[in-house]
Amino acid sequence: AKKTNRAGFSEFGHEYEQQLQHRLHMAAELRHCVERNELKLMFQAQICLSTMNIIGAEALVRWHHQGRTVPPNDFISTAESSGYIVPMGYWILEEACKQQVNWLAQTGEEIVVAVNVSVRQLKDPHFIQRMDEILLTTGINTSSLEVEITESMMMEDSDGLTAILHQIRQRGVHVALDDFGTGYSSLSYLQKLPISHLKIDRSFINKITGNKEDRAITALMVRMGELLNMKVIAEGVESPEQQQELIRLGCHEAQGYLYSKPLLTEDFIDLLHQINGQ
Ligand code: C2E
Ligand code: CA
Ligand code: CA
Ligand code: CA
Repeated sequence: AKKTNRAGFSEFGHEYEQQLQHRLHMAAELRHCVERNELKLMFQAQICLSTMNIIGAEALVRWHHQGRTVPPNDFISTAESSGYIVPMGYWILEEACKQQVNWLAQTGEEIVVAVNVSVRQLKDPHFIQRMDEILLTTGINTSSLEVEITESMMMEDSDGLTAILHQIRQRGVHVALDDFGTGYSSLSYLQKLPISHLKIDRSFINKITGNKEDRAITALMVRMGELLNMKVIAEGVESPEQQQELIRLGCHEAQGYLYSKPLLTEDFIDLLHQINGQ
């Protein structure tokens, strides 16, 4: 609050000012989250729909701050606009790779870990070099790492980003297009992108057991993936009926509360033993 006062904002201003103060305060607190050890990763299982085994896990970050757990939707955009997402993102990437190596050591299972990466991170001039360092120091197999980018971020600066994605793919790291279906990617545009996985947005999976039209859209997205030689994964799968329909459509993988919520790494290891260990 001191800082914002010095910047000239009244302490009991309009709602807008209060919101701004809140964001400034959060941005300032956020800058210490790594050194204060306040970040934690949760992991959500990804299931192969033909074997029903766990083949991957998405890393989802949580910020434990002043006794409460802040969800990413409440701080990622602040981290992005302040630029702090860059160092924070390297911590996340490294921690996710460390855990993947840990799972392999503890269970013998090679699980692909998927890490969300925002456009601000990819545009950091050191991204590839830092990723290489992390791959090397953690010892993760490059094909056991997946980077998730969103369809919307490819809209803004596709040329620069496409070049970086190529460098990522050259190393054997997978690239998944997240929230697929919410943007406006055409088939010919997608064909040019070095992408290995399409991740169908939850909003479509929600409706998949509804009317014929909603089902047809998801069916089309699965077909697009097939045509482009990409694996297709459905996110936000919550019911056996949705799973049934996805299997019928030929979708390869699924993720959602039907299988597991995001878990702490110890609990994820237990789940791995339980599901894959038979
Ligand atoms: P996302 O990448 O689309 O992640 C999926 C979100 O859906 C997660 O929310 C997850 O907990 C939730 N979810 C998973 N299964 C289900 C389901 O069956 N039903 C429903 N209703 N929800 C489900 P979460 O963890 O709150 O993350 C929100 C967003 O924050 C993520 O959306 C992602 O865009 C961003 N995010 C999370 N972790 C990171 C990170 O490490 N780095 C960056 N840059 N962004 C992150
Ligand atoms: Ca994601
Ligand atoms: Ca998503
Ligand atoms: Ca989504």
